[in-house]
Amino acid sequence: MSNQQDLLDIAAKAEQDLNSDRLKAGRQEGTGFGGKDTKGGSTSTDESGIDQSVESKFSQHGATADYGSHVSGAGNNRDIPPSEGGDIQKGTGRMTKAGDFDQGAPGEGPEDVSKRQAEAYGGDDSVRDNIRNQAAGEGTGGFATEYLHNHFPDLTPSQLEIRTAISKVCAQFGDEYWLRADKEHRFPVEFHRAVADAGFLGICMPEAYGGSDMGIAEASIMLQTIAESGAAYAGASAVHMNIFGLEPVRKFGTDEQKERMLTPLIAGRERACFGVTEPNTGLDTLKLQSRAVRCEDGSGDYELSGRKIWISTAQVAEKILILVRTTPLEEVKKASHGLSLFYTDLKRDVVEVREIEKMGRAAVDSNMLFFDGWRVPKEDLIGEEGNGFKMIMHGMNAERVLIAAEALGIGYAALRRAAMYAGERTVFGRKIGQNQAIQHPLADSWMQLESARLVVYLAAKLYDDGHESGEYANAAKYLAAEAAFRACERAVMVHGGMGYAKEYHVERYLRESMIPRIAPVSREMICNYIGEKVLGLPRSY
Ligand SMILES: Cc1cc2nc3c(=O)[nH]c(=O)nc-3n(C[C@H](O)[C@H](O)[C@H](O)COP(=O)(O)OP(=O)(O)OC[C@H]3O[C@@H](n4cnc5c(N)ncnc54)[C@H](O)[C@@H]3O)c2cc1C
Repeated sequence: MSNQQDLLDIAAKAEQDLNSDRLKAGRQEGTGFGGKDTKGGSTSTDESGIDQSVESKFSQHGATADYGSHVSGAGNNRDIPPSEGGDIQKGTGRMTKAGDFDQGAPGEGPEDVSKRQAEAYGGDDSVRDNIRNQAAGEGTGGFATEYLHNHFPDLTPSQLEIRTAISKVCAQFGDEYWLRADKEHRFPVEFHRAVADAGFLGICMPEAYGGSDMGIAEASIMLQTIAESGAAYAGASAVHMNIFGLEPVRKFGTDEQKERMLTPLIAGRERACFGVTEPNTGLDTLKLQSRAVRCEDGSGDYELSGRKIWISTAQVAEKILILVRTTPLEEVKKASHGLSLFYTDLKRDVVEVREIEKMGRAAVDSNMLFFDGWRVPKEDLIGEEGNGFKMIMHGMNAERVLIAAEALGIGYAALRRAAMYAGERTVFGRKIGQNQAIQHPLADSWMQLESARLVVYLAAKLYDDGHESGEYANAAKYLAAEAAFRACERAVMVHGGMGYAKEYHVERYLRESMIPRIAPVSREMICNYIGEKVLGLPRSY
């Protein structure tokens, strides 16, 4: 994808494909969209668990017998992504910035807006509902990729287009794919490839290097949708660094560096990791101890030595964006000076990459890095020597918003599964979802997620509009992470014993929902920031 028009083309193609999928499904079932007596298509899944047939979206649960086998019945009407609901806004050609809440066109009243938005999901409710029913028909029960029934009525046409196009990519990677990736600790290379091939890796990167030059709001929709598809953090983290990690290069790199560094990353030919955190200093980034010193041979190159911890994707990444100290702390006026940023080859002959066994997101590795005498060419220094912290800070707010959007996705995914299960599981002669003790916490979680969502997309919009301070980005990350964690925990509890079983996926979501509470900045540090910057209280750390 080289520009916004290309993304629109992808969305249009996705829409066409979806229409053709619906037709195929209708034909296959012999009942058209209204058919209730669906038999379910065949799911053809390759060794890695990728769905090979489009029809499999309509038959995933039915065809994989052990999925959902614990409950009787076959799903409900919650199995349809917005993209399946009908025609996405045609011919608008307008890439409204996501996050611009749809206030309507001039002369359009609230009813017109609502009608237009309904049309974006299919217009004809009966068609939409029939497709849903078909998906939920006997022996079927849903798509490989699933979304909550609620369709975010405030989304703008451009947001819907992005959501449609990326859900189409995600639909090839069903729950089984992610379950297996987690079990086998296997990086989702096929997913990364598919996202790159669809042109999404450069969503926020300049068109000149193969990107689409969109904003954080659009990237947020994309990452939320990926997580929400059931890919959760495994899917989002597999592409997260590509989406925004190289913002310092975009902003401060030379033209030669941008061409050399951004182009292969956007095309998906290279993967990058991000090395900031250190074992001895943690959140106190300014005290980090890894060093870079100039080589003595007069070349101007550097030699790096030190340690990093928690570096995600370092097992598979060819490149690293790394922050190290070039001037000792004792010799700088301010602690934020004297740190430098390099984007360079992750040379495995001099860098020992040791994986950390961890609680969740097993498909995407996190590692300790040990290095000494690691020669890095001077051409790989980004911006001015000693100015690295400022450059890293530049992207921090955006990263928080993106992590928050991913958290929302996982929260909605968990809520969807919980609601589906609660609507199906019968105990004491009635559906467990009929009990308010089950129903109310889920309703509460939906409201918490929706409240967080408003702040996430407000923060995204503010960032894209040039707002520089971090109160909304931090608040968004905090609120979304907490809401997502709560939704995941409740989803496990609603499933009872089966919540603890891997085949129901919610335990995986719960494990992964811990990540945004901890990284890239903890809840406590966010409260420290709000206390100081918003409430005007004395700095507490
Ligand atoms: C799955 C995962 C992936 C990650 N990926 C990356 C990556 O790719 N690259 C990277 O550089 N890092 C990565 N991280 C690291 C992450 O950003 C850090 O773990 C996080 O910033 C917290 O730092 P720490 O673990 O050193 O905690 P510490 O700094 O040791 O803090 C421990 C606890 O003490 C609290 N605390 C510390 N000081 C204060 C204070 N003054 N007031 C109140 N509370 C305080 C913290 O909030 C926290 O709860 C990842 C972490 C995880 C878990």
